[in-house]
Amino acid sequence: MRALSASDLLQIWEHGRGKTPIEQALAILGFASPHVPAADLWQLTIGQRDACLLYLRELTFGAQLKGLANCPACGDRLELAFDAHDLRGQAAPSLDFETMKPIPTESSFKLDDYELSFRLPTSADLRALIMQTDMSQAQRGLLEACLTSVKKDRETIPVNSLPAEVANAIVEKMGQVDPLADLTLLAICPACGHTWRIVFDIVSYFWDEIQAWAGRLMREVHVLASAYGWREADILAMSAWRRQRYLEMVGT
Ligand SMILES: [Zn+2]
Repeated sequence: MRALSASDLLQIWEHGRGKTPIEQALAILGFASPHVPAADLWQLTIGQRDACLLYLRELTFGAQLKGLANCPACGDRLELAFDAHDLRGQAAPSLDFETMKPIPTESSFKLDDYELSFRLPTSADLRALIMQTDMSQAQRGLLEACLTSVKKDRETIPVNSLPAEVANAIVEKMGQVDPLADLTLLAICPACGHTWRIVFDIVSYFWDEIQAWAGRLMREVHVLASAYGWREADILAMSAWRRQRYLEMVGT
């Protein structure tokens, strides 16, 4: 995986705008890994996909992440600063597609009289559910796709006969096996000392940054192309430092 170039950022913005977050996540990874077949990227588990996005974000814009949150206890606005390394944790060494070890494809566990085996959800599974607006039906659809064996008292039973508490337990178990699928941060309010967990969505965070950068890059291309008559590709191929020096000379 390589850092995204200025030209990548513009192309990702162009191809991903108006798409769903799942498609945007895959478009970003596709540009960073042109030699990996798209079908393979769709088969990454959500945790693997998000770990790759975090790593790519670090390569492209650095490890420092920032955000804003409101304290649920006192309402104070606080600035959050955290590190992509901390979020990725143990996933760091095995992040590149070439060297990435797949998470065990199947896990099994027992719950009361039930014996359950499942594989982890992938982006392809989530894409299949995208039209589903009812959350409980979406959860059922995901379980039907990912449960490889469902037995009660050693007899195979249909997925739709599982009680809700068993279904919820399976989803929770999936989260434990693929912990990066659900990134959370511990926040501490400096005003009142309240601590709570915040869900961090790397897809929307990275996408917003890419949009902002791409918009800024287009304005820079516009100014330099208007002033010097240079081609878009040549302006994008320059280092950011060099583009800034020329922009200063043009007087912007
Ligand atoms: Zn507070």
